[in-house]
Amino acid sequence: MSSTLRFKIVGEAFTKKPVEVPNRKERPSEFFAKYVFNRQKMQQYLPADIYKKMCDVIEGDATLDMATADAVAAGMKKWAMELGATHCTHWFQPLTEGTAEKHDGFVEHDGKGGMIEEFTGKQLVQQEPDASSFPSGGIRSTFEARGYSAWDPTSPVFVFGDTLMIPTIFISYTGEALDYKAPLKKSLKAVDKAATAVARYFYPDVKKVISNLGWEQEYFLVDEGLYAARPDLLMTGRTLLGHDSAKNQQMDDHYFGSIPMRVAAFMKDLEIKSLELGIPCKTRHNEVAPNQFELAPIFEETNLAVDHNMLIMSLMKKVARKHGFRCLLHEKPFAGINGSGKHNNWSLSTDTGILLHGPGKTPLDNLRFVTFIVESLMAVYRHNGLLKASIISATNVHRLGAAEAPPAIVSSFLGKEISNLLEKLEASPAPSEGEVNLGDDSPSPLEKVGKRLSLSLDIPQIPELTQDNTDRNRTSPFAFTGNRFEFRAVGSQQNCAASMIVLNTAMAEALTNFKTRVDALIGEGIEPMKAILRIVREDIKTCKPIRFDGNGYSEVWKQEAARRGLDVETSAPIILDQYLKPETIKMFEEMNVLSKAELEARNEIKLDTYIKKVQIEARIFGDICMNHIIPVATRYQTQLIDNVHKMQQILPAETADRLNSTNISLIKQMGEHNTFIIENVERLIEARRVANRIKDERERAIAYHDTVAPLIEEIRYHVDHLELIVDDELWPLPKYREMLFIH
Ligand code: ADP
Ligand code: MG
Repeated sequence: MSSTLRFKIVGEAFTKKPVEVPNRKERPSEFFAKYVFNRQKMQQYLPADIYKKMCDVIEGDATLDMATADAVAAGMKKWAMELGATHCTHWFQPLTEGTAEKHDGFVEHDGKGGMIEEFTGKQLVQQEPDASSFPSGGIRSTFEARGYSAWDPTSPVFVFGDTLMIPTIFISYTGEALDYKAPLKKSLKAVDKAATAVARYFYPDVKKVISNLGWEQEYFLVDEGLYAARPDLLMTGRTLLGHDSAKNQQMDDHYFGSIPMRVAAFMKDLEIKSLELGIPCKTRHNEVAPNQFELAPIFEETNLAVDHNMLIMSLMKKVARKHGFRCLLHEKPFAGINGSGKHNNWSLSTDTGILLHGPGKTPLDNLRFVTFIVESLMAVYRHNGLLKASIISATNVHRLGAAEAPPAIVSSFLGKEISNLLEKLEASPAPSEGEVNLGDDSPSPLEKVGKRLSLSLDIPQIPELTQDNTDRNRTSPFAFTGNRFEFRAVGSQQNCAASMIVLNTAMAEALTNFKTRVDALIGEGIEPMKAILRIVREDIKTCKPIRFDGNGYSEVWKQEAARRGLDVETSAPIILDQYLKPETIKMFEEMNVLSKAELEARNEIKLDTYIKKVQIEARIFGDICMNHIIPVATRYQTQLIDNVHKMQQILPAETADRLNSTNISLIKQMGEHNTFIIENVERLIEARRVANRIKDERERAIAYHDTVAPLIEEIRYHVDHLELIVDDELWPLPKYREMLFIH
């Protein structure tokens, strides 16, 4: 690109007006879920008996038969066509990024030479997308060639544009999961079972435990003209070169600042569309970095929340284009300023409305609270390495460990109040029978015991925890924030399911284990609450190494964490080994979430994805260096050389030498940079060649990590220095300062 073109694009970006988004006449409560076939629509469009049957299916109390599916499909088709839908698709979440869909028209021959609109129960329930091009990590060659998608009735269908979207799981014919949703649903079932059993110690009427997820989605917006002029952004989602802007986020003036007009219009548009699709968007604000923003809905049941996050990511990209932006979901689009994450707020609650991770009013509630907090810590402690593996990727590595995002060590911050409480419990003596008599006013025998024990142990009343910002550790990857844990290491473009599968399965395992030990004590004749307390105290001690309230970015912590036995590995391919560790396989198999074969297959896909990402970056970067940067740098160097010669022609030798000295220094500097770049792009190509010859996937990924990825960064240093020297008129790519401050 010529510089005049660059200036033109920058000028256009700076003068664009916001796209008008008309106010809606209806209130959000009136258009919320307009395009969702939720219970209210089901009631309206399905016969009463079918509606009831569907409710049972959704609750998990009944299986779906074909006659019901046909009746449901008929109602759905009528509703969808009224909204203008002409097609339907099974919408699934393959192990690549994003979602996949294959659209089929509602059309069918009517047998008389014409067409009718048709949509059957069979089409609703099961389809066979041509699955061969989705990664399966060898599952399909090992097991069975075909895969199919199957309707997930717990996530409602919706109309998006002209298409009826049907959320589905994607599995092979022999039942192995080829997606994120199948194991996610199994992990939710596992945690439901284990947590219900434990919750019943406290509240015997609990029938079901629900896992909640409230994600906060960070993203960048870049003007689309500037985006198009950056081949690196276009092809890899991040800038592979670009010197820091003189002003970036050091003034802290962007965070919670007033939202730029073009961006405000985008947000308004996005929110309306999200609400119409049933996504309960609530919060929007600027983030720390320039051009960085955040969006958060009200939390939902995890399976639905995952679908909604996948949906909103594609919606964001679409709506951004309408507003002349590109939405960047890469975890680190720009070096030197904050990257984007996706905080996953996670908690468990019961069908009776009790938030298991929230403190309560009675001592019994508080013992339950402590139990669930401590067992969450046990889960995270036992599988801290795996939890990290669930969020590691070629793109998220650029964010983790930089002094802004959670570090590459998983630990948990609880805040003073809870930490003190656990310490008190740990230090207090074991309770003995009948220490404190409370009389007979307690509503349940269990609660009576709870009260007595809690008083004798001095479990303090836990006040409604206010979300005090002074007591929030921003460096902690797994922080307790009042009534939930917030897992902050998740990458902005990742499927939340990956970490939710690990977290919920690990929690299921911890609670199952907890219950086994408590029941053993009860079997010995110990009162339930006493038994619980004893095991909780034991576990407080065991999981202590995971608790860390200090600065997660410090060098000292890295050493301390290693001493505590936490996983401190930073190499992505090696972190992925966590998926194949014996304790991981044991956990997933015992909790009935993933088999060893499935884990192996998934691991292979993750390694393959890692390799491809780094490979693509290396290729694009090499091209940009050789085709964009070196030619321009050489041209400018030649201009300077020309100038030096001409100075020598018109000036006395001594004066010319004196005045040429700075230019000669620049010429030399550019010569050094150019030579470094050219030589090392050659090395980069060679490193790729060597890596590509390695047969073993893991070894190849390690080679990419150790030899290819670092070279990109090394070369970049020189390119970014050239940017500081070369005439701005000649520089071919939009600069950071031009891309990051569009208001
Ligand atoms: P922050 O101060 O962390 O930026 P936000 O209000 O932006 O907080 O987002 C918090 C997210 O956590 C929201 O999605 C919210 O619905 C969710 N959340 C709140 N309480 C819970 C809970 N008990 N369980 C799960 N998610 C929750
Ligand atoms: Mg948050």
